[in-house]
Amino acid sequence: MAFQWTDTAITYLKGVGPQRAKAFASELSIRSYGDLLSHYPFRYVDRSVVLLPEACVAGPAEIQVKGRITDIQATGAGSRRRLTAQLVSDDGRIELIWFKGANYIQKTLKAGAMVIAYGRVSSFNGRLNMAHPDLEDVARFKDRPSAGLHPVYPSSEKLSRMGLHSKGIANLVQTLLGSESLTDWLPQTLVEKKGWPDRMQAIQCMHQPTSQQALIHARERLAFEEVLLDQLIFAVTRQAIRAKGNGWVFRDVGSYFNQFFHEILPFELTGAQKRVVKEIRMDMASGMHMNRLVQGDVGSGKTLVAFMALLLAVDNGFQGCLMAPTEILAQQHHQGLSQWANQMGLNVALLTGSIKGAQRKKILEGILGGRIHLLVGTHALIEKPVKFRQLGLAIIDEQHRFGVAQRAALREKNTPSPHILVMTATPIPRTLAMSLYGDLDLSVIDELPPGRKPIETLRRTDSGRLKVWGFLRKAIAKGRQAYIVYPLIEESDSLDYKDLMDGYASICRDFPRPDYQISIVHGRMKSTDKSLEMDRFVKGETHIMVATTVIEVGVDVPNASVMVIENAEKFGLSQLHQLRGRVGRGSAQSYCILMTGKSLSDHAKVRIETMCSSHDGFVIADVDLKLRGPGEMMGTRQSGSLDYRLAKVGEDQPLFTWARQVARDIMDRDPRLEAAEHAALRQVFTAYAKGRIGWGDIA
Ligand code: ADP
Ligand code: MG
Repeated sequence: MAFQWTDTAITYLKGVGPQRAKAFASELSIRSYGDLLSHYPFRYVDRSVVLLPEACVAGPAEIQVKGRITDIQATGAGSRRRLTAQLVSDDGRIELIWFKGANYIQKTLKAGAMVIAYGRVSSFNGRLNMAHPDLEDVARFKDRPSAGLHPVYPSSEKLSRMGLHSKGIANLVQTLLGSESLTDWLPQTLVEKKGWPDRMQAIQCMHQPTSQQALIHARERLAFEEVLLDQLIFAVTRQAIRAKGNGWVFRDVGSYFNQFFHEILPFELTGAQKRVVKEIRMDMASGMHMNRLVQGDVGSGKTLVAFMALLLAVDNGFQGCLMAPTEILAQQHHQGLSQWANQMGLNVALLTGSIKGAQRKKILEGILGGRIHLLVGTHALIEKPVKFRQLGLAIIDEQHRFGVAQRAALREKNTPSPHILVMTATPIPRTLAMSLYGDLDLSVIDELPPGRKPIETLRRTDSGRLKVWGFLRKAIAKGRQAYIVYPLIEESDSLDYKDLMDGYASICRDFPRPDYQISIVHGRMKSTDKSLEMDRFVKGETHIMVATTVIEVGVDVPNASVMVIENAEKFGLSQLHQLRGRVGRGSAQSYCILMTGKSLSDHAKVRIETMCSSHDGFVIADVDLKLRGPGEMMGTRQSGSLDYRLAKVGEDQPLFTWARQVARDIMDRDPRLEAAEHAALRQVFTAYAKGRIGWGDIA
């Protein structure tokens, strides 16, 4: 793409220079004119109300006070250096005070100047003062094009010391605004339809809004741009898959599917399961590639849906595979699927990293020869030597542990590519799903199997531990089993690891053999030991499973009815919900006990209260998104760009839905962006897509 004015290095901007440029880059990643223009205010202050000193009262709100500067005084030295001045009117005064940067401020203060001081007023020794006020010349204040809403910019201490505090930044932005025109790359028809301002106007409005309404409009346009670029990436991926040829057509609902449905399936499908199975069936019969995400709450029966989809593949003469994020989960899926499949004479094999040598060789041969119908495993499935005779459907369980690359690798396992079905561990908000898995179609299982008793969830502190243990003993006496989970955020964190081992030792003391048998599973164990321990628990040979979050996903032991989560305040909401979902799978009333410290942070309090009051994973996911924001909620592994400057995942759902529709439309009509009205879009998108997808290869 040709060099643009916005690419100009920030150091060339009047008033910046090399030193400030360096600080801009290191503190705020601002390197170019464009970066500064999109360094948007994080809030705006209504500056239409100006008070006189005598009308001020102390309070939390930031206000503006007009007066004349007098009595500038610097006292103390070093870190105790401070600067004071009086802001006076005919009838009153307020003290202005600076504890930091006194020397710098002193140089800029002029005795006798009429200023507007902006900040919070507090009261000290019966006198009012304002610490670290923002000062602005009265004349300048009047000159502003936006006398109403004033921008407040993110800055840093270092930048502020160099004069690049919010106001300094505002001044620099001012010199950029309106000086050049910007490429308006959104298709014009869209802009007209929405009545949006042009690009430069929109940016100007973000920095100097003339009204609340104008600001909302400008933000909408710019946020839409961000989301559209992202959604175009997904649309391209989708298009590329389609361009590679048609999908396998699974025309028949055959004998395996029917036999399972009529003779083996031990219960009725829920309405939601039926609907999703149907959506999958339609996809796989359509001649297109299926690319579908199934969202469902913990325990909503996603595995069963997956199995029925796999049967459709087999019915049509294809193989299927199911990939899970952990070895434990892969083993469980293998066991579960085998139970059903073996009754119909289907072969299900397990492939994980710990299966080696002759055993592995035999499995690889079975897959290639077609003797094995269904393959279950970890990411070992996607390794090169694993070759299928005819793979028709690949399913990824608990997608959040995998990335886009793994999905692509599964696609490579056959030509044309197999159908792809992806399942999430817990629900995520719809906008988040769209920004992470925008290339996938969405199915939702929004119904739990009947007869589930809601899990009773309680918070307890250490002082209640004896009672909790007593409760556990009673449950075990009734033949139930229990989990006790410790946070081990990173399996390498030695401190958490010590917590776990200390906890295990004390549990062993409190629940002595031979009356109590205790299992332990954590990430530092050899995988054969892990599965041995897991097995003992599944078979009911042990009463308590002490574990880290390795058991978080998927594990299914219906007889377990108590889940104790230690240091529950350390877990995120979706993790807590996922952990809680390990119980309540049988007919017994189940309990989840959240052990926490006595005092909790505000966020932790909300998390714990949400868990105690709600069972709906979709509700919990929304709260989680509000508390943590999208990036943190999904972890760093996700490749989707969630760090939009303006678009708000969660709040901007209509915008996301619309951008997705527009992106798909554009790609359907003009996959190479060759149309005249897409010329500018093509340039911007090519730059955006660089390094993200092989758009260059496509366009
Ligand atoms: P998840 O969606 O969390 O992966 P699973 O597929 O593990 O849930 O299912 C949870 C439990 O519910 C399993 O024991 C499964 O056999 C059972 N189950 C699934 N569907 C139904 C149904 N329609 N009726 C009754 N039980 C069901
Ligand atoms: Mg599952």
